[in-house]
Amino acid sequence: MAMGEQYLGNMQFTERVKEEANIVELIGQYVKLKKSGKSYVGLCPFHDEKTPSFHVTENPKLYYCFGCGEGGDVIGFFMKKEGMIFPEARDYVARESGIPVPVFKRQYKGTVLNTRDALGIAQEFFSRNINNHEAAAYCMERELDEATIKQRGIGYALNNWHALKNNLLGIGFKLEDLVSAGLVGQKRDSPAESRNPDDYYDFFRNRLMFPLRDRFGLLVGFAGRAISSEDEIKYLNTVSQTRFGKTFYNKSEILFGLSEARNAIRETKKVLYTEGYIDEVSARKIGMENVVASGGVAFTQKQAKILRDVGAEEIIFIMDMDEAGIRAAKKAVQVAYAVGLTPLLASISNKDIQSNEELRGYGKIDLDVLARHYRDPDMVMASLTIGDVIEFVLKTSEKPKEPEAQNKLLEEIVSYFYLLPAGRKMLWINKAAKELGIPEDIVQVKYFERLKQSVVPERGCCKAR
Ligand SMILES: [Zn+2]
Repeated sequence: MAMGEQYLGNMQFTERVKEEANIVELIGQYVKLKKSGKSYVGLCPFHDEKTPSFHVTENPKLYYCFGCGEGGDVIGFFMKKEGMIFPEARDYVARESGIPVPVFKRQYKGTVLNTRDALGIAQEFFSRNINNHEAAAYCMERELDEATIKQRGIGYALNNWHALKNNLLGIGFKLEDLVSAGLVGQKRDSPAESRNPDDYYDFFRNRLMFPLRDRFGLLVGFAGRAISSEDEIKYLNTVSQTRFGKTFYNKSEILFGLSEARNAIRETKKVLYTEGYIDEVSARKIGMENVVASGGVAFTQKQAKILRDVGAEEIIFIMDMDEAGIRAAKKAVQVAYAVGLTPLLASISNKDIQSNEELRGYGKIDLDVLARHYRDPDMVMASLTIGDVIEFVLKTSEKPKEPEAQNKLLEEIVSYFYLLPAGRKMLWINKAAKELGIPEDIVQVKYFERLKQSVVPERGCCKAR
């Protein structure tokens, strides 16, 4: 395609996006809009106000605020609201509107290559190497088929210190862009000002590469899964990155699969959470659409808030119930409660589930079993009440004999008590005392101490039994 043709194609595409996008629906995800005459009105997302002066019209497709003067088209809205650059916002609106995004051939010569380009080209490079025999053997073992690999953009970082770096330098990237994209590291003992390519090395080596996207589907980094059992670090993520002084990638905010899962989460108000990228990929393959993963980081409050904002009300944790998994689950459940999400715990033994009680049983997870029941309309997954959580913690914790460890466990247990409805508190103080073999009044004192420093959850009330 010649340069001129490409420019024309770009313009036509942009016009089509502006024309076909449902501006009311897209902006409506941010602002509660009410029809008033020919326009839709709501509270402005760009300035603080009590009476609505923010207008969205369908003909012409524009938004405007009479309070602060902010206004423009639908693409401009996302640029302004989410800090996207033009092609990012345009492509995002296109994807949301079901308009296929054309692939324009990149012109490397004479263009300014930036961090985002480096990530995109690195992904292509990783994808081209997926048939390397070590990677292929690993994919086979983990039952990752070709269609899935292609669809999810999974690739392989060669077992080589300079392969990606040399490829990108050859295209015309500068070393500092590769460093700031998190693709290349600098040898510790080399001078800080060094521009000698030999002092830099590929950050990801001999790893299966999963592209990480933010909730708008923009590529922001990678997670590399070690394929050699000798590798001590199982997951290696891109280090946090900033762009235009804004953090555009922070691993505590990334949820793998979120851009694919977003609509399903919004529709079902439920999200399934797994710990590994491969679990996420497998779960999606067997038909679970509202699934996300967070590899290498424990479930964070930021992630919980993002899921809540996307529309989740319930979060179903799918975790291995080994020691590390149980520890992670306890923490995750608390994080979910703190932002007003109702946590459910799916830990399924390798047999058909007969009852909700069994669903809560602490066994090894079998995704196929979960999928079968997930599709079953009669299967209502019991939500984990705060009582369940306390019981779960009591059941799965070792009961220590030393006062110090005992105190620590007691502190953890009472940290859930403020979420209990008033009428249930004494019952649980009594239960915990019995289970831990500690006098009831000590549990009570601990609880009152904790109450003084407790924070109230931001949203919702907690169902308790
Ligand atoms: Zn305004």
